Amino acid sequence: MSPRRRISADVQRLVRRRASQLCEYCHTSERWQYVRFTIDHVIPFTRGGTDDLDNLALACFHCNRRKANRLTAVDPDTGEETTLFNPRRDAWNEHFVWSADGLGVIGLTPCGRATVMMLALNRERIMDIRAADQMIGRHPPVGDQVQD
Ligand SMILES: [Zn+2]
Repeated sequence: MSPRRRISADVQRLVRRRASQLCEYCHTSERWQYVRFTIDHVIPFTRGGTDDLDNLALACFHCNRRKANRLTAVDPDTGEETTLFNPRRDAWNEHFVWSADGLGVIGLTPCGRATVMMLALNRERIMDIRAADQMIGRHPPVGDQVQD
């Protein structure tokens, strides 16, 4: 059994609503998924992060697993270590944009690029899901920027 405390159903509901049911990293919608997304500790529990709402984010299973207990990653363009995207502090549209075909996430900043790489935001399976969702008008999410 995990020693981690369970996050109450009420708090989980608030996290989902605040995220508009999107994974706050890869922006996949939970609405059309077979399994529910996870509640991510932005500052990992193992690094002193709390169960407070301002430390929680909605994350799909894959993003949560890849993020693990990391806070930083390497920007592939510069080789420098930088902080991972923090959905409580950072605005998604300032760090990411959809590629012109709407299928790939492009990092706009060191933090964005490092997060795309570390969390594998353009993994093959997710690209397939985006393409299928796009054909029926479910992707990209409303409010996201797409490259010209
Ligand atoms: Zn995700």
